[in-house]
Amino acid sequence: RLGNETVKAELGRATWKYFHTVMARFPEKPTLDEQEALRSFVHLFARLYPCGECAEHFQQHLSKYPPQVSSRNAAAGWACFVHNEVNAMLDKPEFDCNDLGSFYDCGCNDDEESGDG
Ligand code: FAD
Repeated sequence: RLGNETVKAELGRATWKYFHTVMARFPEKPTLDEQEALRSFVHLFARLYPCGECAEHFQQHLSKYPPQVSSRNAAAGWACFVHNEVNAMLDKPEFDCNDLGSFYDCGCNDDEESGDG
């Protein structure tokens, strides 16, 4: 377990940025294989998160609210929701998931198989 609160918060911020960016770039119409990949990723991500108590809490959230993997919107909305669950647990303000917009645009212009992204 990471003892230092500052380090834990920094890890959290970096991880959430990564986590929401993964969702923002998940396919709008994922194949079954892509859906299964995201589901596995989220469970392994939670299991291997390098802060023991966080991993434990997050796995409890996951068993209550399993990852939504049917589309980009579903995945991004779900991730925003579970992050808000963690926010609530830590007495942090709720984030308005309608504001996700381009907040997690990674600037990687290799998106969209259809070419019109
Ligand atoms: P963060 O919560 O790190 O958020 C970073 C930024 O993301 C915010 O400034 C905001 O711009 C945006 N944001 C906020 N909410 C949302 C949302 N719902 N959707 C999208 N974007 C949003 N810390 C603990 O002390 N105990 C724990 O058990 C714990 N569990 C964690 C589990 C996981 C999986 C992760 C990734 C982190 C966990 N943390 C835990 C760390 C904690 O969630 C914060 O990252 C940390 O406290 C720093 O908080 P922050 O206020 O800087 O904002």
